[in-house]
Amino acid sequence: MASAAQVDFLVMGAGVAGLRAAVELADHGDVLVVTKESLGESNTHYAQGGIAVAMEGGEDVALHLEDTLAAGDGLVFRPAAQVLVAEGPERVAELIEWGARFDREGVRLLRTREGAHSRPRILHANGDATGAEISRSLAVFARAHRRIRFAEWTMVTGLVVADGRVIGVDLRDGEECCRRVGARAVLIASGGAGQAYSDTTNPAVATGDGIALAAEAGAELADMEFYQFHPTAFSLPGAPRFLLSEALRGEGAWLRNDRGERFMERYHPLLELAPRDVVARAITREAMGATPGETRPVHLDMRHVKGVDLRQRFPGISAFLARYGLDLARDLIPVRPAAHYLMGGIRTDLDGRTTVRGLYAAGEAACTGVHGANRLASNSLLEGLVFGARAAQAMPAGDPLLHAAGPVESAAAPFTASEEAELESAISGMQRAMWAYAGLLREQSGIREGLAAQRRFRAFLDEIRQRAKSSRRLAEAQAICRVAGAILNSALARTESRGAHFRNDFPRRDDEHFAKHTVLRSDGRVEFEDWPDSRYSLAHAVSHAPAQASST
Ligand SMILES: Cc1cc2nc3c(=O)[nH]c(=O)nc-3n(C[C@H](O)[C@H](O)[C@H](O)COP(=O)(O)OP(=O)(O)OC[C@H]3O[C@@H](n4cnc5c(N)ncnc54)[C@H](O)[C@@H]3O)c2cc1C
Repeated sequence: MASAAQVDFLVMGAGVAGLRAAVELADHGDVLVVTKESLGESNTHYAQGGIAVAMEGGEDVALHLEDTLAAGDGLVFRPAAQVLVAEGPERVAELIEWGARFDREGVRLLRTREGAHSRPRILHANGDATGAEISRSLAVFARAHRRIRFAEWTMVTGLVVADGRVIGVDLRDGEECCRRVGARAVLIASGGAGQAYSDTTNPAVATGDGIALAAEAGAELADMEFYQFHPTAFSLPGAPRFLLSEALRGEGAWLRNDRGERFMERYHPLLELAPRDVVARAITREAMGATPGETRPVHLDMRHVKGVDLRQRFPGISAFLARYGLDLARDLIPVRPAAHYLMGGIRTDLDGRTTVRGLYAAGEAACTGVHGANRLASNSLLEGLVFGARAAQAMPAGDPLLHAAGPVESAAAPFTASEEAELESAISGMQRAMWAYAGLLREQSGIREGLAAQRRFRAFLDEIRQRAKSSRRLAEAQAICRVAGAILNSALARTESRGAHFRNDFPRRDDEHFAKHTVLRSDGRVEFEDWPDSRYSLAHAVSHAPAQASST
């Protein structure tokens, strides 16, 4: 079926949200799951610390809700958070039944605590390889289903829109162009966009493709200014920005500045377990040198932690650090923040509907409002399970299959080596501009500089396209460009500081004007909106999608 011209349901992405949705959809029709690289290459696969879930009954669920609301800094859409914490236990129990093996002591599931959680409720697998286990178990379960097929190393490059409804997608297999597949409904589960930044914990596939394609098709985006920066990515020149999980601080790790001081007591009563945005900004401030551009080292310190076998508890992290001659039990570990998780995304209701008919979204690519201005640690794997399943339950009620006829992008000239280098250098320039101007500490003049860089980048990409060039990398660059524009414009509009969005020029939270979600309309306007209650549904949203088939 992978080469079929029509399927009932097309799922873009094979992370936790896409795989969970596919399993549900298979009860209602044929499903094609498309993934840009191999099945295992996703943010899900790299998730370390665990999955937050309240499995101890009503009080635990209520506390999980409170923690989620508190982390989101006044902007969590409460009905979405209620759905997450209430449906989470059932989704996780089901996952265990399907074969996911979480760490246990005897029969008892082990639970750890992470930043801003009021009690230990984070399940983990193989110590610090939770995402890989979730991805593995879901993929095995989905592969056994005869109605689910996979197209690996295949990129969705366009959404086919007719009469305001998404009726299919354009696909690119490797460097070969291109084919069109019709579908009754399309689910975007393509994950985040960490690659919009020069420093990120996200793998190379996380270029925000689905978010950009949805916006191009006329879907609204929401809360795009809220990018979570993980406080503790490994920081050694030449080494990757490998994530040093929050669970290290959950097990007692301290942060120290270059004078050896444990500085978090100056920033928050919860110290190292304060919300992520607080810890990340504290590290940024402690790392600032005397002159602009000069940075000072900040370290994680676990040398005092007793009674835990750190190599056994964190086998993946320990193996990574050993490559650089470092040991958690013996050494100070250099860290700095990196772009990690997009709270915003394609605006959806609680059933994954976007503002365009036939188009659904779930997981990190979507914005239900569940994370508000700042995600609670380990809530996103749970989000993928819960909202992936819900979107899939809504999709069968969609429209009948239409024939997605129309032109498919013709084969274009390949890039020369020097053009490839030129493109790569332009992408790096945009990523650095995002880090500098839409990073942890923002202000109006910088955001405007960032927007100017984004306009230059867009003009450069338009010029390449006029040369009739096409490649996976060019499509990714276009996605990065669109996502960067959305983040910068939303950050410019929010003249306050809240959660992960900090403005040096507006350092206070301003509930009077800004306790609302930003919505990026299809015409590019950014507006602030209340999402009042659980009856909120986009089922009858006016579609702004262009009438013509679109393909990028
Ligand atoms: C290093 C790291 C550690 C993390 N640790 C945790 C943790 O401990 N707990 C937690 O809850 N969260 C954690 N997170 C966040 C969490 O992993 C993600 O938010 C979540 O897995 C996202 O799932 P998803 O299904 O939405 O997307 P992803 O898992 O990112 O999957 C996206 C899929 O879309 C595909 N795709 C993208 N573009 C295209 C395209 N154009 N065409 C076709 N396919 C495409 C990709 O190939 C991939 O298969 C971590 C993230 C990282 C990066």
